[in-house]
Amino acid sequence: MKKAWIIVTVLIGIFLFYTLTMHLVLNLNGDEYIEINVFDEYNEKGAYSCYSDIFGFCLYEPEIKISGNVDTTKLGEYTINYMISSSFHQKQIQRKVTVVDKEKPLINVTQESILTCPNNNDFEVAYSAFDNYDLDITDKVIEKIENDEYILEVSDSSGNSSTLTLPIIYVDDEKPTIKLKGDKTIYLLKGEKYKEPGFSANDNCLGNITDRVKISNNVDSDKVGKYTISYTVSDDLNNTTKLTRTVYVYEKNPDVPIGDKVIYLTFDDGPSKYTEELLDILKKYNVKATFFVTSNGSDDTIKRAYEEGHSIGLHTYSHNYSKVYQSVDAYFNDLNKISSRVEKITGEKSMLIRFPGGSSNTVSKFNPGIMTTLAKEVEVRGYKYFDWNVGSSDTSTSDSSKIANNVIKSLKKGSNIVLQHDTNYSSVKAVSEIIEYGLNNGYVFAPLDITSPSAHHTIAN
Ligand SMILES: [Zn+2]
Repeated sequence: MKKAWIIVTVLIGIFLFYTLTMHLVLNLNGDEYIEINVFDEYNEKGAYSCYSDIFGFCLYEPEIKISGNVDTTKLGEYTINYMISSSFHQKQIQRKVTVVDKEKPLINVTQESILTCPNNNDFEVAYSAFDNYDLDITDKVIEKIENDEYILEVSDSSGNSSTLTLPIIYVDDEKPTIKLKGDKTIYLLKGEKYKEPGFSANDNCLGNITDRVKISNNVDSDKVGKYTISYTVSDDLNNTTKLTRTVYVYEKNPDVPIGDKVIYLTFDDGPSKYTEELLDILKKYNVKATFFVTSNGSDDTIKRAYEEGHSIGLHTYSHNYSKVYQSVDAYFNDLNKISSRVEKITGEKSMLIRFPGGSSNTVSKFNPGIMTTLAKEVEVRGYKYFDWNVGSSDTSTSDSSKIANNVIKSLKKGSNIVLQHDTNYSSVKAVSEIIEYGLNNGYVFAPLDITSPSAHHTIAN
């Protein structure tokens, strides 16, 4: 009996001991401290739970209550709590999750280097800065210039920083500009003093450098002739710009030709499709002529003629008799049109005129007295008009040798102003013969300018 009690007591003791040593086990799956990048996904790995006996035998897995959450869109430290309980016990553990930003911000520029004037650091660079977390942080960018480098630096709110460096290239290969005030071509009556109309000069790096302009001026207003005034300006790196202005000193009615025997070849009504060939012929003999142009032909042809040293005169834009001789205004309106065309092409204002039909024309008789008025008025306005004293009759024949002969037989000592039309191919073909005759017989060829003697017809209206 006593033995039975002892056994019972021992069994109860074992049972109590076993029961009282039952315990809760709670372990994290994964690390206790986790760092994750902002916007990355947080994966909850959970925990292991167990109601265990002293031998480590798991009787069951109690349910784990997890509280707390991680907002991966916001930097910060988050705590996750894990808890289990049984009737007598409770157990709790924690995990710390830190959301961090380790990504560097980005600096954007649209250029790879900076070109600026020597000694000039006053330039502007367009930039922007963007951070994955702070978004636009352009206003946090710091600009620096060190050792010919332009440096941009920026840090985000987590202290991640970026640097962008652009080389600075100090250059100036741009020429200064000069602007002439007044006309590019100035006509002075002999004896009239030249007055400089002024100019200004600007440089991309230095700004206004008008005071650096050097002028060379050899105008002798007592001597008839064509003069060139040159304006030169340089910047610090010797980029140089030179402009010229032409000055003609002339007499209203010079009676002294530039030589004993001078031929002024003049061509009316063009340019035309034959003019380029004519220019080739003139070039071959190195002879300069005069073109009284209209609205016809291409700008390039006029440009070529001008650049090859020929004179460009104004014949009217429309060459329409009933239109241009309708009134003084009608004439000048038309003249201004051809004048602008020429000035636009050559950069020089032409003051040389030939009236359609010549000043002696009778086609204007529908408006009595108009030629008398115009002949005076053009001179009042500073133009000089030229008729001709050698005809070619190239409008009444298409025989080139006849045209050449008509000219040749009329040549005389003094100044010969020859009328031809470069709209007439036969007339163009006659030019070689005329030139060869002239050169073989002691004539000099010259282009008309405002200093040339004129030939004026008797006005018939
Ligand atoms: Zn004509």
